[in-house]
Parts: sequence; C-alpha cells; structure tokens
Amino acid sequence: MELTKSQVEAISLEITKKTGTKCPACGQSNCFSISQHVNHLISGKLKEDGDVSLIGATFLPVIAVTCTNCAHISFFNYSKLKERLTEK
Ligand SMILES: [Zn+2]
Repeated sequence: MELTKSQVEAISLEITKKTGTKCPACGQSNCFSISQHVNHLISGKLKEDGDVSLIGATFLPVIAVTCTNCAHISFFNYSKLKERLTEK
C-alpha cells in the first residue's frame, strides 16, 4: 500500500516524537528515510525440503525506516501507528 505524502509526514512525526532522531546503530542524527509504502513481514512455515510455505502464513504490516548514513533498518508496526494517528 502506497502512503500519501501527508501520511508519511504524520508517521515520521509520530516515530521521531517517541524515538528521537538518532540512528540506534551509528548515532547519526536526522538521517532517516521512511518508506513510502507499507511493507509486510511474512511468517511462513518451514517445509522439510527447506522451502517456506506461505499457506497459513501471517503478515505484519510495517513501516521501514532506513538510516541514510549506515543503512541500518528499523521496522515500526504500521497497525499501531495507524491507531495512534486516527486517535488524533
Ligand atoms: Zn545509522
């Protein structure tokens, strides 16, 4: 799902309000790039042949925040962010 510019701005504000603007890996400030899409972490079942089955898989919607200095990625639960943004 693609996010609108105002959604990205609201999410950015909500995240930085709670976490600050420092990268937890390199310590650089104000160097975040927030994904323009909602991404999904998938939890599938590992099959005996080593492949992953997506039958019955669960999906967790996340916002990926990437440090433009060191490329560290943090994920934030989009469902929780959306709840907070709609409460306002
Ligand atoms: Zn960094």
